Amino acid sequence: MRIRRFTLAITGASGALYGLRTAEEILKSGAHLTLLVTRAGFAVLKEECSLDWHGSPAEIGARMCSHFNVDQAKLAYHAEDDLYAPIASGSAAANTMIVAPCSMGSLSRIAGGNSGNLIERCADVMLKEKKPLILVPRETPLNEIHLENMLKLARMDAAIIPAMPAFYHHPRSVNDMVDFVVGRVLDMAGIEHSLFCRWGGRKGMTDDYHAAIAEKVRDNRRIDDDEALFLFQHHDLLTIGELAAMANERKNSRKVFFNVNRHINHTNICVNRCKFCAFVRAADQPGAYLYDLDEIRNRATEALQQGATEIHIVGGLHPDLPFDFYLEMLRTVREVSPSLHIKHSQLWRSIIWQSFATAPSVRPWSSSRRPDWARCRAVEQRYSAKASGNSSARKKFRAKGGLP
Ligand code: SF4
Repeated sequence: MRIRRFTLAITGASGALYGLRTAEEILKSGAHLTLLVTRAGFAVLKEECSLDWHGSPAEIGARMCSHFNVDQAKLAYHAEDDLYAPIASGSAAANTMIVAPCSMGSLSRIAGGNSGNLIERCADVMLKEKKPLILVPRETPLNEIHLENMLKLARMDAAIIPAMPAFYHHPRSVNDMVDFVVGRVLDMAGIEHSLFCRWGGRKGMTDDYHAAIAEKVRDNRRIDDDEALFLFQHHDLLTIGELAAMANERKNSRKVFFNVNRHINHTNICVNRCKFCAFVRAADQPGAYLYDLDEIRNRATEALQQGATEIHIVGGLHPDLPFDFYLEMLRTVREVSPSLHIKHSQLWRSIIWQSFATAPSVRPWSSSRRPDWARCRAVEQRYSAKASGNSSARKKFRAKGGLP
């Protein structure tokens, strides 16, 4: 199979990420890429993407290969004044050239045939050789000169793809919006991709890539990392639900299982302050609370007596709770009944958050490490109206020699 060769130029317009993502996808497709960057393009890469590619052309080329995790057989770099580069000649031109982002200065010089550097020369070669040239301007508003230059290039069969993301694929992040534009560039360049869900029908199942994944699930084959990432990035819950139901039915037939679940929301004091949350309180706000271990034990016992089979511990990300409190909370529920299933979605989030917030004091799950009972008690006293010197939890702590 003949390997396709692409030239990608990143010029000094804002939007260097378009160039980087395009380069990633070209390399991912197995094609060979020659990457060209103008002096202003390097400055924008540094400013917008924190990529400081400097040094000799060989050093810059090595940095690019390291960034994209490919070897030099896949990715070449030439300085913008290197007019001796093979791609400057029509006899060695790439199959397709993309300029993303394309500054209005570069666009104007390409439209005028004014080949002052390697990028402009390569674009000129693509036009004279009648090969695909794709330009991604990112300028707004556009003046008459910009529009005239674009029209001139479009009449010469260059593809003008302004960096204008659509919204029908329901982007949820800047990356989604960038990927839409990059996806349209790849479409034009004839590179397969799964960067966004296309217009038409329900998002996902009509898409080829989704359909291929669905086929795998239907055939009881495992999906690979890329496919899992694709599902994750495309936020298509309906499709994922459909695939999950398919796998579930195969495993469990049409049986449905129920359990009796009791939530224990140990605190409503939370650092997250999600906008939609009516539960959260600041520590000094009326209604703020934190259960001590006795309260958690009482609630778990009550739930067990009422027939609960599962305790679901959720609650806020308390700023001061030490890691040991979470361990004790788990132990307390486990002591109430070993048969109670403990569900801990928020709990794990709290633990992870705590491990960041309190590191380095929080370290591995070592049973030999003595918990920081003093900190537990301090937090308990500070926040919990229920804290009492006679609590059984305190007694237990004392018995362990933990409390001062
Ligand atoms: S309790 Fe949950 S939903 Fe509410 S602010 Fe905290 S993390 Fe967000």
